[in-house]
Amino acid sequence: MNFIKLENVSKTYKNLTVLKNVTMEIEKGEFVGILGPSGCGKSTLLTLISGLEKISSGHLKNNSTKRKSAFVFQDSCLMPWKNLEQNIAIPLEILNTPQKEISEKVNKYLQILDLQKFKKHFPRELSGGMKMRASIARALITDPEVILMDEPFAALDQILRERLADEIYEIYLKKKLTSVFVTHNIAEAVSLCNRIYIFSAHPGKIIGQIKIEKDKSSIKNYRNSEDFHKNCVKI
Ligand code: ADP
Ligand code: ADP
Repeated sequence: MNFIKLENVSKTYKNLTVLKNVTMEIEKGEFVGILGPSGCGKSTLLTLISGLEKISSGHLKNNSTKRKSAFVFQDSCLMPWKNLEQNIAIPLEILNTPQKEISEKVNKYLQILDLQKFKKHFPRELSGGMKMRASIARALITDPEVILMDEPFAALDQILRERLADEIYEIYLKKKLTSVFVTHNIAEAVSLCNRIYIFSAHPGKIIGQIKIEKDKSSIKNYRNSEDFHKNCVKI
């Protein structure tokens, strides 16, 4: 089933065409990459899929119910005046979830992302890796149907990137959560995604698509550059 479908979608800001005739389909449970150079409209595409911005022309269908697309931004976007557990609780507070359920869920996701020890810390006291993990916990806490990740590793060094990627993939395997991952890093896209749309810039449009056959449960198996090509099929 097409979970998210775009047909000839274009997006124009004033007279700047950022995305042109984008046609793509994302199925339930897929891990789809959006790969392209800076400025090709990847972030814009996520704002269209999530409904934060309106398309200028074409058709877009997102079958996940409202509120069910969760965003992970590249700079984590935590509220500096709230500690970690308060930050993670924000979406549930907005939904008026009972306090008992909030604290159960916050504890569950603090545990999943290995943040329990830091729950009383404020963002300024935490490393980039921990802030990104908190931002992922905050996205997952509402049980979204789709998670939209905009360069979640941008602020991290290589070791933290790999560790966080492992965690994201593990969560994906457990939940089979429909995932859209924006990046300009091909190795990261190949290691995480089942399918990748490749974009060119000015205006952003799709120039190719690759499918990655995955039969192993750990993405470590897909990091080795020699393996990339074996598992990629141009479609
Ligand atoms: P990417 O994520 O691939 O780097 P973006 O989607 O952030 O690309 O941006 C694509 C282009 O759209 C850029 O030239 C950017 O300046 C422009 N752009 C993005 N958002 C807006 C906006 N709200 N108003 C005007 N221009 C925008
Ligand atoms: P990550 O962000 O992925 O946890 P770091 O290298 O930033 O990786 O942190 C490594 C370890 O340093 C953490 O697991 C934690 O034990 C410790 N640490 C980092 N920041 C703090 C802090 N503000 N207070 C206490 N311990 C910290």
